[in-house]
Amino acid sequence: MRNFAEEIEQRKQSGLYRTRRLVSGPQQPELMVNDQPVLSFCSNDYLGLANHPGNIAALQNALPETGLGGAASHLICGHHTAHHQLEDRLAEFTGRSAALFFSTGYMANMGVISALAGRGDTIFSDRLNHASIIDGCVLSRARIRRYPHSDIAALDEMLAQTSGHKLVVTDGVFSMDGDIAPLKELARVCKRHDALLVVDDAHGIGVLGPEGRGSIAECGLSESDVPVLIGTLGKGVGTSGAFAAGPALLMDYLVQKARTYIYTTAMPPAIAAATCASIDLIERDQPRREHLARLVSVFRQRASAMGYTLIDSRTPIQPIMVGDNEAAMALSEALEQQGVLVTAIRPPTVPAGEARLRVTLSAAHTVEDLERLLVALERCRHLLDKTDLAV
Ligand code: PMP
Repeated sequence: MRNFAEEIEQRKQSGLYRTRRLVSGPQQPELMVNDQPVLSFCSNDYLGLANHPGNIAALQNALPETGLGGAASHLICGHHTAHHQLEDRLAEFTGRSAALFFSTGYMANMGVISALAGRGDTIFSDRLNHASIIDGCVLSRARIRRYPHSDIAALDEMLAQTSGHKLVVTDGVFSMDGDIAPLKELARVCKRHDALLVVDDAHGIGVLGPEGRGSIAECGLSESDVPVLIGTLGKGVGTSGAFAAGPALLMDYLVQKARTYIYTTAMPPAIAAATCASIDLIERDQPRREHLARLVSVFRQRASAMGYTLIDSRTPIQPIMVGDNEAAMALSEALEQQGVLVTAIRPPTVPAGEARLRVTLSAAHTVEDLERLLVALERCRHLLDKTDLAV
């Protein structure tokens, strides 16, 4: 048997040991963590919809109609009208022919990628893609070629060298950096090499683009440019689950082949009903996105003026680069002592030597909340004086 205790000890020694915090009460900026109130800047609830009264009411209203449990997989007897209505709504919202509702984003990526590519095919995957994309690539048994982050010239060359079926997959917004993939160029290069482009817009849906339709819509691209869109619903949309959207033929193909769709219990249908309500709200609530954009811009100006190193990101994901794992932990702990929660992200989630604090902003934050974060950051600035990355 492997020596699991020793492996855990090694993690502790190298500053990579992972722990969980115990949250009570609803997800919102003022969060109860281990029975202490903190102001959180680390959730993916970018629009502040995870605890929105309208969405909660939609869930409560749906429950007597739908009951609670999903009870069976979609292909047995679990595919409820509420799921089907959400799929139609998601197709309409994203401007696509059809959509398919998955239970989580992790499962959507695993299922979609492994269904659309297989033995003998080649998948080209951005080096900074999310873990669920990487696992989907491995599950497919296709040949995997990782291209340097958002490097179109390198991808172009790799595609040109490869024959057979090709699939290119990228995050729309990179989850740990917050930058946006060069989608127009990706679409162009994929067309040129007849490669199928799959974009996981987990962090763009609801937040970017006209009416929150995501990073693909923001670039003015459509289904013919990016045939397969994956979106998650537990982040900007504030509920739970995920979807794939694209040509009806491909969605039908996924129903036949995506194992994480076929062999799992359908989500509680009331969640689908609440998600429909949330999409309605997202579409009409532009001021929510505008407030968020203002918070992002103020944070960037003030944190960089303090000498923190930021990444070139205009999304609510605003990492503060630290480098060293322990220095990142120390900064996170110092902020927590001031009542501000920003988690440190360390390898293997990010490349070695690139530990960071992943600050995420939400439309639920007030200007005063942001001020509290900035004051805490000012007080903790000296902690980074000895690290390489702080300027
Ligand atoms: N894709 C990306 C880019 C993500 O960041 C995440 C979640 N962190 C997922 C997929 C997985 O989504 P879910 O949490 O719904 O499983």
